[in-house]
Amino acid sequence: MRWTEYFLPTLKETPSEADTQSHKLMLRAGLIRKVSSGVYNLLPLGKRSAMKVENIVREEMNRIGSLEILMPILSPAELWTESGRWDVYGKELMRVKDRHDRLFALGPTHEEVVTDIIRHDVRSYRQIPLTLYQIQTKFRDEVRPRFGVVRAREFMMKDAYSFHRDETCLAKTYEKMYEAYTRIFKRCGLTFGVVEADSGAIGGDVTHEFMVFAETGESQVFACECGYAATSDSAECEVVCPETGDDAKPVEKVNTPDMKTVEEVTEFLKKKPSDLLKTIIYNVDGSYVAVLIRGDREINEIKLVKVLGAVNIDMASPAEIEKLTGGPLGFSGPVGLKGAKVVADTTVAGMTNMVTGANEADTHLVNVNRGRDFEVDEFYDLLEVVAGDPCKRCGKLLSTWRGIEVGQVFKLGTKYSEIMKATFLDEKGEEKPFVMGCYGIGITRTVAAAIEQHNDKDGIAWPISIAPFEVHVLPTNVTEPDLKTTAEAIHDGLTEKGIEVLLDDRDERPGNKFKDADLVGFPLRVTVGERAAKEGNVELRIRKTGETTKIPKDDAVRVISEVVAEEKKKLVP
Ligand code: ATP
Ligand code: MG
Repeated sequence: MRWTEYFLPTLKETPSEADTQSHKLMLRAGLIRKVSSGVYNLLPLGKRSAMKVENIVREEMNRIGSLEILMPILSPAELWTESGRWDVYGKELMRVKDRHDRLFALGPTHEEVVTDIIRHDVRSYRQIPLTLYQIQTKFRDEVRPRFGVVRAREFMMKDAYSFHRDETCLAKTYEKMYEAYTRIFKRCGLTFGVVEADSGAIGGDVTHEFMVFAETGESQVFACECGYAATSDSAECEVVCPETGDDAKPVEKVNTPDMKTVEEVTEFLKKKPSDLLKTIIYNVDGSYVAVLIRGDREINEIKLVKVLGAVNIDMASPAEIEKLTGGPLGFSGPVGLKGAKVVADTTVAGMTNMVTGANEADTHLVNVNRGRDFEVDEFYDLLEVVAGDPCKRCGKLLSTWRGIEVGQVFKLGTKYSEIMKATFLDEKGEEKPFVMGCYGIGITRTVAAAIEQHNDKDGIAWPISIAPFEVHVLPTNVTEPDLKTTAEAIHDGLTEKGIEVLLDDRDERPGNKFKDADLVGFPLRVTVGERAAKEGNVELRIRKTGETTKIPKDDAVRVISEVVAEEKKKLVP
């Protein structure tokens, strides 16, 4: 491929909209262009890299016997009402109406559609296990689209769904998928961790996320030396508040004028933040729930939604709090509270002689004790884990890192098959719901994650497996017939060997060409320069390491194709 016949609009300046390294570089190296918030064009380079990720994913899916299909993007609202997700999915589900006013969803994921296929065409235990997958555009109306194609509203995903007679059979496929995912991300040249996670809107109990290590990642992971690793959404730790065993003292009412924060109140009362019991009032699907947590810790709302089986939770407004408790925001407490269920984090169980709001302006209570002064309806683990908390498995201290989630595998069980009546007949002729699994990979997000991990101050440094081109041939002066012919011969020779080459045949200053070559970052660069050419050499440079070697120009095609093969081999798991 020749640059002058290609479409590769590089940018010298970094567009101001870009926030992460991968976002900046994808714009600057001409991989993507924005159409609208969270909606992007993939230009030729971007499309080439995405197709390479797709092909790796396809090969690994086929290897484990998963079958490729293609489901429509449009799916009728009826299917989503059947599963209950027309409401549950909320604003993230893009909805459209046809000319007859019939409602459709633009698929954010395809559990409903695939379950519908299976319930019509699979009747017997003999036809399962069965795993189907597709590679397709997905739509999610994300609250905060950002980081380019990392969190987009329209993006490419591979989604697979498996159907089984029982949990044992599902476990086998889950294991195979887990291994396939490991191979896929290794082949893409990524450094990643696999962590326990929350299943979100998809549902199910067991789920793992594949996280590419990246400072700019939106996911926070807590990890321990013992191997435990979980996302902040689901991480657990050993209870950090043992019972104090102190005797209960009499309750006192104290004046705390205008003191609303934990720090203000406890400092004034000469107490520690951990002596205070925070009471946060939530509106949970239309009913009030008071959530109690130790003053120095935060509530993990994802855990809260899960334990309450809630669809929507919002913090109650100041007006709602005033109406419910009788006191303003900042002075709520569980003593005498009516009209709200009281749930508490497990760490609250051991607290004695607590400070709480008095449900009255500018007033707190001191020496409040559970059992005597108020009751908790339900205890749950609601704690937002922080680095330094003890691991729930071994007690060592948890550390933390950030990552970009590129894939997730879920054991769904019978969540969709039961509600959508997708059943099969077993050997005894008994009707049973399918046991299901589902497995996603963000194709375009994986490209961005790879760039996030493989770049330097000059640009991208692609892993060869997903690089848009493998070799960049750069004649420093195309008006010099000698250089031009040599460069073309190398381009043609390598292309004939099936190697993907871009020849920079532009009549440009060498400085600009080198800058662009570093920016687009193909793994190998072959410079055909005047001095080396005089000696009968060309220069081979490895983008990642900067290592350069001189090779006789007549031997260039053979040597370079060997280096390409070696580089590729490094990424075979
Ligand atoms: P997140 O927590 O990042 O919102 P998710 O857990 O909702 O993602 P899944 O439903 O597990 O995502 O989707 C499977 C894969 O699709 C994800 O692992 C990710 O790689 C990709 N993906 C999800 N949402 C987006 C998005 N908005 N833009 C690009 N890729 C996405
Ligand atoms: Mg996910």
